[in-house]
Amino acid sequence: MLKQILFAACLLFAGASFGQQALYNPSIDVQHYEFNVRVSDANDSLYGRAVITVRFTEKTNAVHFDLMNINDTARGMTVVSVKENGKTLPFTHRSNVINISLEKNTGVNEIRTFEIVYMGIPADGLIISKNKFGHRTMFGDNWPNRARNWIPCKDHLSDKASVEFIVSAPNHYKVVANGIKVEEKELADHFHLTHWKEDVPLPTKVMVIGVADFAVDYPGEVSGIPVSSWIFPEQKEKGFHDYSQALEILPFYIKNVGPYSYKKLANVQSKTIFGGMENAGAIFYYEGSVTGTRKSEALLAHEIAHQWFGDAATEADWPHIWLSEGFATEMTHLYLESKYGRDTLVKALEADRRTVIAFTKRKKVPVVDTSAGTNIMQLLNTNSYQKGGWVLHMLRNELGDKIFWKAVQEYYAGFRNKNAYTKDLQQVFEKVSGKNLDVFFKQWLYTPENPTLKFTWSYDEATKNLTATVEQLTNTVFVFNLRYAIGKPGGDGITKSVAINQRITTFTTNLDGKLPIDKVANVSLDPFCELLFEGTVLKK
Ligand SMILES: [Zn+2]
Repeated sequence: MLKQILFAACLLFAGASFGQQALYNPSIDVQHYEFNVRVSDANDSLYGRAVITVRFTEKTNAVHFDLMNINDTARGMTVVSVKENGKTLPFTHRSNVINISLEKNTGVNEIRTFEIVYMGIPADGLIISKNKFGHRTMFGDNWPNRARNWIPCKDHLSDKASVEFIVSAPNHYKVVANGIKVEEKELADHFHLTHWKEDVPLPTKVMVIGVADFAVDYPGEVSGIPVSSWIFPEQKEKGFHDYSQALEILPFYIKNVGPYSYKKLANVQSKTIFGGMENAGAIFYYEGSVTGTRKSEALLAHEIAHQWFGDAATEADWPHIWLSEGFATEMTHLYLESKYGRDTLVKALEADRRTVIAFTKRKKVPVVDTSAGTNIMQLLNTNSYQKGGWVLHMLRNELGDKIFWKAVQEYYAGFRNKNAYTKDLQQVFEKVSGKNLDVFFKQWLYTPENPTLKFTWSYDEATKNLTATVEQLTNTVFVFNLRYAIGKPGGDGITKSVAINQRITTFTTNLDGKLPIDKVANVSLDPFCELLFEGTVLKK
């Protein structure tokens, strides 16, 4: 997603577990969710019936799902009944968890299906409000673990399952959701049923429904994937123009990364607490994203990139969120580079680098950050986005375009519709490149610093020798190639490179009379924007 914009105040997070080894609700692996949801205009109550098919990974006499209880403001869910094969099961619903006692113990790998009937006013997760035109709308907004506010589930991104939403709503609304529409029909009392089904397994964070008065446009198909735009009717011309840019963006990722994983892509003007939310096959953008001037191209490119990174290849746990956000950041830069040229990329990278350096001064945490605990929102930070993007940019520099893209493709192919840790990405890049990337991954992703350099130099006109000392001022001694320019890079200057792998590196290089003395007056570091660092240059 793209962070920023409207941060709602009261987000609740029930205890999720963290760290690479801690598995969340490990006794089940959800196979499929069927959510029957009825909403109305009379009030904000939701009536739900969830049919959840799970595979048990161990023998047990109980099963539990996440679902928020009623809170102090009378919002939350009440469970009416739990059944298995039509037979009522005893349950408790406390601390935002439904605990169900089973009549018969499970066997390992046994598949069982439970039906949970529930109702209530969602405190969060399904945002029922008015859009900027004063019309009532309902938008799912599950990230990161807010699905439990309105659908019972195993609310952790490591357990992916196929999902279908069968939504009953007053018939003036249109309903969009993940997957493809398999059924629509009129119901009594001016209600309408819309049934969407996604066969590809999704994490709960990107499951979604949107219920609003929409104008819908179908600007075209990309590789057989129908693309649609869902816009508030008041802005339909502007929105159809803006969102149809998806037709340009999709082919870039399909060509460079791999096949799109879902059967359609809907771009939806919505109410989300984020700037954009990468719900699988049904991306939600904040309502101000529609302007008629296509100013949201980068936002579209970011959320569409997430369909590959985050939705299809999903991080296995929250500390590895850069596998979503860093990829979406870098892929957006690469798309814009392909369209507008190298200068656009460099400008974006320079801005990101300034942001990262400033962030690191405030907060000393590594990109793969296990310290955030239950505050997952805290991980929506510069490290996950801009630094994660920079790490990929540096991998591209280190390995070259051809190997970089091959590794990205292999990573996507290997983890498509699955989950990955950072080490999985490292292994793929090592396999494809034939290089050991331990040092690279350790220093950039598990170290809470970036290189801080002092570059001191002098020039001896008699010998034409430039002598320089590079000192690393951080605790970490980083290993990298430092490119520097003497004179004007790309103009009448020259660029050279020095391998840095110690705290202090001193070297002498002969300029061989290539530059007149007045041009040696200027030495600058990293002329091609290849290194995440900050530095000062001093002439002795
Ligand atoms: Zn994002």
